[in-house]
Amino acid sequence: MKSKELYKEACEFIPGGVNSPVRAFYSVRETPRFIRSAKGARLRDEDDREYIDYVCSWGPLILGHAREEVVDSVKRAVTDGLTFGAVTQKETELARLICEAMSPVEMVRLVSSGTEAVMSAIRLARGFTGRDIVIKFAGCYHGHSDGMLVEAGSGALTYRSGESGETTAAAGRAVSSSAGIPDAYASCTRVADYNDIASVRRIFEECGENIAAVIVEPVAANMGVILPADGFLDGLRKLCDANGALLIFDEVITGFRLGPGGACGYYGIAPDLVTLGKIVGGGMPLAAFGGRRDIMERLSPLGDVYQAGTLAGNPVAVAAGLETLRILMSDPGIYSRLEEKAARLKRAYEGKTGISVNQVGSLLGVFFTEEKEVNNYDQVKKCDAGQYADYFSYMLANGIYVAPSPYEAMFVSDAHGEEEIRRTVEIVEKYGD
Ligand SMILES: *Cc1c(COP(=O)(O)O)cnc(C)c1O
Repeated sequence: MKSKELYKEACEFIPGGVNSPVRAFYSVRETPRFIRSAKGARLRDEDDREYIDYVCSWGPLILGHAREEVVDSVKRAVTDGLTFGAVTQKETELARLICEAMSPVEMVRLVSSGTEAVMSAIRLARGFTGRDIVIKFAGCYHGHSDGMLVEAGSGALTYRSGESGETTAAAGRAVSSSAGIPDAYASCTRVADYNDIASVRRIFEECGENIAAVIVEPVAANMGVILPADGFLDGLRKLCDANGALLIFDEVITGFRLGPGGACGYYGIAPDLVTLGKIVGGGMPLAAFGGRRDIMERLSPLGDVYQAGTLAGNPVAVAAGLETLRILMSDPGIYSRLEEKAARLKRAYEGKTGISVNQVGSLLGVFFTEEKEVNNYDQVKKCDAGQYADYFSYMLANGIYVAPSPYEAMFVSDAHGEEEIRRTVEIVEKYGD
């Protein structure tokens, strides 16, 4: 297998052979497949094997790989110059489009990654409120900035080093998910339990006057997919309001995935700040944060909160993002088509014993557990990672590429057609026979 050779070589020069840990396939005991190209819903690897892709670059590719209009707009942008480090009209167009789509967002700043968007939004929340503490939820992932690598989901959960076995959230202690994070940083992050409003209230009761913000993935999609319980997001809004803290929705996954209005629109809750990434860049390195005008106007050069980026709002990335969002906004049926396909996959998984599945829009979370419903991080951690690895290998052998980790979402794109969905349902239905 050519991927094996290539991986061996990669490991000589790149730590673990990967530029982002979850790509390594460690937790599923496989060799990462080196991808040569992709089109629509399909990946092709260096061994010339084809896979139906449900990772979709971890979220950006809601239109599938190499959608023609997006590729064309990138080509045109490239011809006009790769970067200017000066203002361009297209940046305003993208910012305007985001503001029009998401009602709580009145102003936007463009950055290059979700990590940067979150890091900047948190600095802004601290600058605006004059407070230090941020509440996050165990199992939510907000990129790899120091303060957010505390009980983090995604790769930090897949490759967690020490496992205490108990929820630190219950104890309110902040335990970082990585070495190299000063205690002083970690102690400015307090960890609560997702879908447990009482765990948030307790922290507010203890130190409400020091809390700058609550940051949450409105749908937790970095510990599998966990849907917000009734009243949970609204409860956060009320607690923030009562205590003068800001509510930040990290919509890096849900933004433009649950609909043009993101999770704010889907659940009808207005956060103060929103972070976006993945889909807004249409497959290019672009992300954004935005929100209330009075808060956003605290950013430099208007205000006293500094934030910057050499390649922020890069014209090629903006072209890809703009075209992607335009396609999404001009196709009124797209979100119901996505949902319908995801619901068909959900039904296939529901037919299996020992599997529980959550789905919202085009996101699915598949859990290997005897529990009927999975609603929180403790349940996620108790799922059977060994069984997930077996399932992963089975899917891969049958030409279906799902996330190489039990803690990641399954993404359905517009490019997944009848043929791909039917084939996937068939393979899932046969699993374990
Ligand atoms: C992926 C992700 C991030 C980090 O984005 P990067 O572009 O990988 O830095 C932040 N928040 C959420 C919810 C994410 O899913």
